[in-house]
Amino acid sequence: MTSFKNDDKKYIAGTYGRFDLELVSGKGAVFTDINGKEYIDMGSGIGVNIFGVGDSEWVAAVTKQASKLQHTSNLYYTEPCVRLAEALCEKSGMKKVFFCNSGAEANECAIKAARKYYSDNHDGAEGEIITLKNSFHGRTITTLAATGQDVFHKNFGPFTDGFRFVEANNCDELREAVSDKTAAVMIEMIQGEGGVNPLEKEFVDCIKELSKEFGFLIVVDEVQTGNGRTGKYFACEHFSLAPDIISTAKGLGGGLPIGATLFSDKTQNVLGPSDHGSTFGGNPIAAAGALSIVKRVDDELLCEVEKKGEYIRKALGEAEGVKSIAGMGLMLGIETAGDAKKIAAECINRGVLVLTAKTKVRLLPPLNITYSQLDRALDILKEVIKNEASA
Ligand SMILES: *Cc1c(COP(=O)(O)O)cnc(C)c1O
Repeated sequence: MTSFKNDDKKYIAGTYGRFDLELVSGKGAVFTDINGKEYIDMGSGIGVNIFGVGDSEWVAAVTKQASKLQHTSNLYYTEPCVRLAEALCEKSGMKKVFFCNSGAEANECAIKAARKYYSDNHDGAEGEIITLKNSFHGRTITTLAATGQDVFHKNFGPFTDGFRFVEANNCDELREAVSDKTAAVMIEMIQGEGGVNPLEKEFVDCIKELSKEFGFLIVVDEVQTGNGRTGKYFACEHFSLAPDIISTAKGLGGGLPIGATLFSDKTQNVLGPSDHGSTFGGNPIAAAGALSIVKRVDDELLCEVEKKGEYIRKALGEAEGVKSIAGMGLMLGIETAGDAKKIAAECINRGVLVLTAKTKVRLLPPLNITYSQLDRALDILKEVIKNEASA
């Protein structure tokens, strides 16, 4: 096959610092490049391909729907999005779902709904949303405004008003920030792009208590942590937290673009006709593929996710150059003595794809990766971390 990376440089807007790797196909937790070389996938395309590449049930669901009906617009009823919403509500205890096409869009909808809930209950007044420092909620102007990292804000102002930031795990700072103006507190249970940092249980309890006292909504961004990634369907379950709004995307579609915003009993009727919408939202093909994924994220799979997470922690825990491992289930961040970007690049040379998050090596493997694939990938990763530590 002829290389296409130079044409990419010529025609694709330069927003991505890509690794020197041209991928063309794959199966399960293995990608194949343009030269036929194989790579064990420890990143799932950033937590998207949760059953790997070319999962047969997903392919069957998608192709069947593609040949039947690919799109109608939301002016009419179609069944795949209904069945998907039903499955998501059954898994989460939430009551209604809005579908869109990405994580940022799922958060946009969550933010609009939180603002409207406040407005509805405060004679049309405008409320504030508190998010956490070091968070990541997306790349649109409003979700960037919600993102508590200055690096993303440079050159793109002015931003949407109405956001305040507090330090994660600092209950005192949060207590000082909340008021009767607070419409919502929006959090990731584990900050993903921020470096795989799980929230502390005490801080989540603090949010719950303050929410009871002040009446603000709790919005949980499960774009990365959702859909079985951490060993529960949604990571908030680890914290016995029942959010008012949950956003999710990434793993939901198994590789097709889809996002969802889930509403609880309390928020299910906040958005009414023409309050929000999306041309592609709930697209039949994306929804049919997602349904084939969601229904298999059952207790048995979640238990496997926990076990594989423990297995990785054990394998890397005492490895040379590994300083700490954070995360839950198959969402892990490894602090090493070396440079994470260099480790990721060297792993590619040796046939393993890993991600980074801030200074950490981040692992988000397909949930159905096999133990022999894990063994091979971990042996290589250990070797590379060790070499980088002494480099
Ligand atoms: C990836 C991510 C987003 C943005 O999702 P897109 O699909 O890229 O818009 C938002 N929130 C979190 C927590 C994410 O990990």
